[in-house]
Amino acid sequence: MSKTFEEQQNQYAELIVKVGLNLQQGQKLILMSTLATAGFARVIARTAYEAGARDVIVEWTDEQMTAIRMKQAPEEALDEFPAWKANGMEEMAAEGAALMQIYAPNPDLLKDADPARVSRATKARALAMQKFNVYTRTSRISWLIASVPTPDWAAKLFADIADEGERMVKLWDTIFSMNRVSEADPVEAWREHIAQLTAKREWLNDQAFRKLHYKGPGTDLTIGLPEKHMWVSAQQQNEKGVTYVPNLPTEEVFTIPSKLEVDGTVTSTMPLNHAGQVIDKFSLTFREGRIVDCAAEVGLEALKQLIASDEGSHYLGEVALVPDQSPISQSGIIFYNTLYDENASCHLAIGSAYPFTLKGGTEMTREQLDEAGANYSIMHVDFMIGSAELDIDGERADGTRLPVFRQGNWV
Ligand code: ZN
Ligand code: ZN
Repeated sequence: MSKTFEEQQNQYAELIVKVGLNLQQGQKLILMSTLATAGFARVIARTAYEAGARDVIVEWTDEQMTAIRMKQAPEEALDEFPAWKANGMEEMAAEGAALMQIYAPNPDLLKDADPARVSRATKARALAMQKFNVYTRTSRISWLIASVPTPDWAAKLFADIADEGERMVKLWDTIFSMNRVSEADPVEAWREHIAQLTAKREWLNDQAFRKLHYKGPGTDLTIGLPEKHMWVSAQQQNEKGVTYVPNLPTEEVFTIPSKLEVDGTVTSTMPLNHAGQVIDKFSLTFREGRIVDCAAEVGLEALKQLIASDEGSHYLGEVALVPDQSPISQSGIIFYNTLYDENASCHLAIGSAYPFTLKGGTEMTREQLDEAGANYSIMHVDFMIGSAELDIDGERADGTRLPVFRQGNWV
């Protein structure tokens, strides 16, 4: 018998709290939600308390308020972000709180806003949150991002369905299915899935590739991998040794590119929803790691602003492999939500690298990370480059080459 909506929603919340966050008895939870996802935030809070949470501290935002501010706040205000907010988050992270973000942005929220103003505000927030972000980027605390439908998001995806309620049901069903919640035993299904990703990760680590060669329509790119790179997948460990899964869903196996060893051109295969603006059909050209040229059919100004955020946003910080056979890709839906789109497609990230993708990286100083080839930026923005036409070869230190991906899938 198929499960009711409530059963599936509760199982989804349990998957998030128990498998994703793996919330510990007595632990606090920082929960980030917009007003549009308040209903599910309450389900998470109930589930977290049931799992023994000491407290759930909610950080509410409102997309409409963001749009109003972006339109009307004086220029100089956009360069500011309240220090007390950033400090409060840091204080909780230092106490060992877990972090969950319900991520469901309206892709068209800031469609008509000035990209330069949006970029100023995005940058101010990223700068203020720099210290807090170390907790997530170095895996010191458990954190998780998951999505639920909102009317705006569902309208963008299913414009052909006239009724809002029907669009919401369709998006919920899609999310349940992509997260294996519609299966009889979601927790068991996840255990198997994590084991499969782990096997891929171990194979890649055994190969010890030093370079990856990408070839596809509009793409001819070579990415060097640092000697100490480590492939990482689904499950990670915080500084207390507690495992957690930071992304639900997750289909990727990823590592760190060598900052100065990226050469050639790469073309996007999916639109990128960045800070409320869509960038689409774009390409980037790299020389010795640095982005030296870019083009875009949609959102060129937003792309240029993103690259100009700081010095590190001219370089890559993540290389991720996702087969075209992933369920998200096979759904045929473009989600305009990076959490979903990045798990449908091989992707790269502009900006900061994750120190935990380098052997000993979480113990290294900024200078040591730099020396090891790890990029640093206030930004980390994934963009999708995978398709059924993408081939990837791995090259070992002795120059031998091995096919890794053919026509978008694992060889
Ligand atoms: Zn990724
Ligand atoms: Zn990423």
